[in-house]
Amino acid sequence: MAGEGNELPVPMPFMFTCDGCWQLLVLLARKVAADAGCFAEQINVARHIATEHPDEVPEPHGDDCPLCPKYAKLPEPADRWAEHRARDLFLPEGVARLL
Ligand SMILES: [Zn+2]
Ligand SMILES: [Zn+2]
Repeated sequence: MAGEGNELPVPMPFMFTCDGCWQLLVLLARKVAADAGCFAEQINVARHIATEHPDEVPEPHGDDCPLCPKYAKLPEPADRWAEHRARDLFLPEGVARLL
């Protein structure tokens, strides 16, 4: 099947009740459905979650994540690290951990 493994996961409950999340997710889903580049849309959703829903950002990943150990070593990792972990909430795992 085309697109297998690239399908977006079902959004978390808090995303259904937030207009900001919902609008950004719709924009992202449209790009994915059109098989278009959605880099900016991914960043926008992750940034929104990290800023507006910091309590929903997942805990740092373990050693199986290629990026968390690197982010942990940065002097000021908080924002970008949170955005990286927020990607788990709305992207397939293989895509989420690319950034
Ligand atoms: Zn939101
Ligand atoms: Zn990670």
